[in-house]
Amino acid sequence: MMRVCTVCLSEFKKVVDDDVYYCFDCDHYQYFRNDTSNKYDHPKLSQALVSLREKQSKLIVNELSKLLSSNLNSLTAIEVGAGKGYLIKEVKKKITKCYALDVDETYKNELESLGIEFKLGNLDNKNNFEDVDIVFGSHVFEHLVEPSQFLSDLDLPNIKFVVLFIPNSKGLIFLFGRFLNKIRVSLLWDRLFQKHSNSPHYHYFSEKSFTKFVEKNNFKLVSSLNLNMVNYIPNFKRVNATESLIISIISSIFLSFLEIFNRVFNICDSKAYFLQRV
Ligand SMILES: [Zn+2]
Repeated sequence: MMRVCTVCLSEFKKVVDDDVYYCFDCDHYQYFRNDTSNKYDHPKLSQALVSLREKQSKLIVNELSKLLSSNLNSLTAIEVGAGKGYLIKEVKKKITKCYALDVDETYKNELESLGIEFKLGNLDNKNNFEDVDIVFGSHVFEHLVEPSQFLSDLDLPNIKFVVLFIPNSKGLIFLFGRFLNKIRVSLLWDRLFQKHSNSPHYHYFSEKSFTKFVEKNNFKLVSSLNLNMVNYIPNFKRVNATESLIISIISSIFLSFLEIFNRVFNICDSKAYFLQRV
């Protein structure tokens, strides 16, 4: 079966494994799922991620404040696929009018108690973006099979910034996972793509493929931020949410070790991108 790269439309030549393809032209990985899903324990996983997500959200909102010359307070912001809404909670400290969009109402009350207006729905409804200035998406974009549809829905004159926080294929954790997969240890690789979950990562962007992709969709990359995938101090809770105890202890230590080296080499396993319409 012929597979085509979503970013540059060239034909995929190199097969990494049966489901993941790599495009040499734009440095892009794409997952074509063959399996059926069983669900990750998301609540447990989210709990372990709290401190890291809060730190990252602060960095993202700080960077946006620098980029925006206008008075932030007069703007309107929405986080799509918000979940617990780490980003929008941080945004709320600077922007009065904030929305959280999600198909799941689990965190509705918590968000509303903070003055964030909850909207129930998927991100495929353009109406949600017609009266907002800034759109945030944290670990949402890579889950979309057709991310260009989402960008085209955001191509509206009122949109001042789109901020997308996604995994990055140039970090040491990704590279190590790829290496292990080559020698037939696929645990980390499958985890990086969230292969056996109900919502896998269909796309694993590099800055090169991401830039190319947004430019094709009428946006330009204004700034990007290197962000951690894991804490420098091993977080056993996080890995233990999905793996057995002994594997989780060893891999937590090792992942933190790789994250420290990411810092040393100024590379990273996740990135926040700040986009404007062309
Ligand atoms: Zn490509």
